[in-house]
Amino acid sequence: MQRRQTLKKAKRIVVKIGTSLLISGAAGVNKIFLSKLAKEIAALRQEGREVIVVTSGAIGTGMAAMQCTEKPRTIPGKQAMAAIGQPRLMQAYSQVFSKYQLTIAQILLIADDIQNRERFAHARHALVELLRLGVIPVFNENDTVAVEEIKFGENDTLSAHITHLAEADVLIILTDVGGLYTCNPAENREAKLLEHVEKIDRAVEAMACGPGSELGTGGMATKIKAAKMVTGMGKEMVIADGRLPKMLTRILAGEPIGTAFYPPR
Ligand code: GLU
Repeated sequence: MQRRQTLKKAKRIVVKIGTSLLISGAAGVNKIFLSKLAKEIAALRQEGREVIVVTSGAIGTGMAAMQCTEKPRTIPGKQAMAAIGQPRLMQAYSQVFSKYQLTIAQILLIADDIQNRERFAHARHALVELLRLGVIPVFNENDTVAVEEIKFGENDTLSAHITHLAEADVLIILTDVGGLYTCNPAENREAKLLEHVEKIDRAVEAMACGPGSELGTGGMATKIKAAKMVTGMGKEMVIADGRLPKMLTRILAGEPIGTAFYPPR
């Protein structure tokens, strides 16, 4: 509990939103969820905090626009859906966030951009300038140009890199489960939610196996990988259920919700 107090002081926050929260099947972008998110971000800004969003949902939005019910299996198929969906997704963000006087900016990256020192620096300068202007940067992977060797593959890993790029204090991954459980809660009633993880060892990794939802790409395993990266940088990470009311506000008030991962002491 004591350690959660540090979240109260977090100034710069990266929030990753999973596809399962953002997309309601054939209806496309879930504007009710987006609206709640925008309202919370506006309140956090009032407290003097800076918020950076890492969004998923381009492929899901593309699928809804094309009335396609099954996720394409081929890379060009997914890339096409992402290309159709990304502008629609950003339009929804822009429209909803503007109701809360928030301006958003789109930044699309691939893993290569993070590994290349020069491009990393360029992205960082642009990001710092956007934050100075009071704008909410919204990141996604540049799916249309990312082929296997140069892509992050899922946005949990991307969000850990963005935490590094932004020198943020904390990464919050919002998803459709309550956090990390001792075993899969969908399969085992005995599953218990872990409030804290002090060290990511084999036992923790073993709790996280199993894929994610139908539309999203990552499961718990990619979130644990992200937690390893983030805590390795000396930052905290929280996984929590984004469907619950006022999640960001409550997490950043130090309430014991979701699972918090801490850097080694
Ligand atoms: N970049 C993908 C999209 O926007 C999401 C990857 C993921 O679900 O993690 O659809």
